[in-house]
Amino acid sequence: MSGVSRPDAHSERGPILVSACLLGLPTRHDGGHCRRAAVMEMAQQRQLIPVCPEQLGGLPTPREAAEIASGAGADVLDGRSRVVNRQGEDVTSRFLRGARIVADLAQLLGARQAVFKEGSPSCGVTRIRQAGSDVGGSGVTAALLRREGIQLDGIE
Ligand code: SF4
Repeated sequence: MSGVSRPDAHSERGPILVSACLLGLPTRHDGGHCRRAAVMEMAQQRQLIPVCPEQLGGLPTPREAAEIASGAGADVLDGRSRVVNRQGEDVTSRFLRGARIVADLAQLLGARQAVFKEGSPSCGVTRIRQAGSDVGGSGVTAALLRREGIQLDGIE
């Protein structure tokens, strides 16, 4: 009898979470994508799971761009900061919800690696945007995945 093989949670051959926009899916706030050839090539070698934390959190596409008001993703996780869109709306709860869903998905599927888009208030690994400038730090989902021991690689 054939069955579904479960990935080994600790295997380097397990699935990898990928920012959906890097695979060419039109999930960006402006309805566009950030397809990257290097990520498309990874799909030939590894099982990739596209995720968009902002969509999973319940935000529409297109949507207003948003920023972490101060600090970085870990500050949002700990309640010290919030995420606000260009209209001034507080979208923190959506960002937290999306982050939790992605972390739960990683657990469910045994994904221990993620390749995420730099600069995003959700996915940024080492860099986010604040008030028109690049600042060091992770987005909300990246910060949560790091806390859960998932290896993160950022793609510009
Ligand atoms: S939240 Fe992440 S996956 Fe979604 S569009 Fe932004 S960078 Fe891409």
